[in-house]
Amino acid sequence: MKTIIEPFKIKVVEPIRMTTKEQREAIIREAGYNLFMIKADDIIIDLLTDSGTAAMSSEQWAGIMRGDESYAGARSFFRFEAKVQEITGFKTVIPTHQGRAAERILFELLSRPGKYIPSNTHFDTTRANIEYRGGEAIDLVIPEGKDPQNLHPFKGNIDLEKLDNFINKVGPENIPLCMLTVTNNSGGGQPVSMTNIRQTKEVVSRYDIPLFLDACRFAENAYFIKKREPGYADKTCKEIAREMFSYVDGCTMSAKKDALVNIGGFLAMNDVELANQARNVLIVTEGFPTYGGLAGRDLEAIAQGLEEVLHEDYLHYRIRTVEYMGEKLDQIGAPYLKPPGGHAIYLDAKTFTPHIPAHEFPGQAIAYALYVEGGIRSCEIGSIMFGKKDPVTGEHIPPPLELVRLAFPRRVYTQSHFDYVLEVCAAVYKKRDQLRGFRFIEEAPLLRHFTARFAMV
Ligand SMILES: *Cc1c(COP(=O)(O)O)cnc(C)c1O
Repeated sequence: MKTIIEPFKIKVVEPIRMTTKEQREAIIREAGYNLFMIKADDIIIDLLTDSGTAAMSSEQWAGIMRGDESYAGARSFFRFEAKVQEITGFKTVIPTHQGRAAERILFELLSRPGKYIPSNTHFDTTRANIEYRGGEAIDLVIPEGKDPQNLHPFKGNIDLEKLDNFINKVGPENIPLCMLTVTNNSGGGQPVSMTNIRQTKEVVSRYDIPLFLDACRFAENAYFIKKREPGYADKTCKEIAREMFSYVDGCTMSAKKDALVNIGGFLAMNDVELANQARNVLIVTEGFPTYGGLAGRDLEAIAQGLEEVLHEDYLHYRIRTVEYMGEKLDQIGAPYLKPPGGHAIYLDAKTFTPHIPAHEFPGQAIAYALYVEGGIRSCEIGSIMFGKKDPVTGEHIPPPLELVRLAFPRRVYTQSHFDYVLEVCAAVYKKRDQLRGFRFIEEAPLLRHFTARFAMV
């Protein structure tokens, strides 16, 4: 088998500022050992997130020039709307400035105290928008989805029996909609099978509950279906995506993921009455319905990105990159969440540094070492981000997993960048016994991971 090359050529380059280990030690100390507080210019390879970090194509940049900035009825809106409808088939498409704006509008209309919104796993912003309006966000992923070593091909699937039981327990009249996150971001970027989407629709239809997709990574999910689900090998990813959307009533979308742009999103649905209400909210807070908080040029770039993201060569290279990183980490022996998902590798910090207890943040110890060793920015997803404090004893209550996410921006880094990341991972793994934990010296009451300062233990 030949090397799977990046299916694009590079036309514009952005230089990376190289730093030495000594410089990085000083930089991260200055930043209170918090990677969020480091300037992007002081990072060599930035794997903090895959959100809004994609490289746009020459056609997308051409679209930026073609953007029609008319306030109402812009040509760019109609191109955007037509492309979203071609892929999703939904009757109405409402542009928003990013994914959480679509969520905010939807849940302003549908979430309130006494209402429950089940999902495989809600993403943080989705959960926050549901809870902000008083409703409850319920996660019902299959048990395999919570086991970091289970090789189930569709670990993002929702547990259909639990869903049915849950609907009967709280009553269908208290469930305004059910959601499926594709791929399941908070569960490690794991896909949902077509069968699971169809059967979820069958369950909720019995109770007249609509089903929405949180469609941020719909194209990556479609590719996994093509590769892993019987009967889909000969279908195109676009056909598979269309089938995924055909079973549901609407979607929220962050275009910062699988629309290959740096900003944007949308809310789309078949319920024309609900869409009219959503447009009224949109006009008050985001903008007129043909731009929704975006510039016309952004809509052009999204339309083009949605076309490109479904190209088989792109998806093959994209998913293969993550798989390749997994294979090489296996050779190094470094533990990670398996199987690799669609957009990131999650190092398993508990196994990586068993000598560091949860209250000394093993993920942070690894993230620190990856930065000092090679200038790589990763993201701790463990006790710092999701840990809680016992209200009585003040003792640390850790989340089930201690992870370090290496998220891969789309079309930004080449194979040699990824090989470099692996070399750095290998060097850090080799000296894992010497890594030390951290403790807080400053900590905000909410979302503390963004601004906290640490000291090394
Ligand atoms: C990123 C993301 C969102 C929120 O989108 P933003 O554009 O960041 O507001 C919602 N759901 C999932 C699954 C995401 O990955």
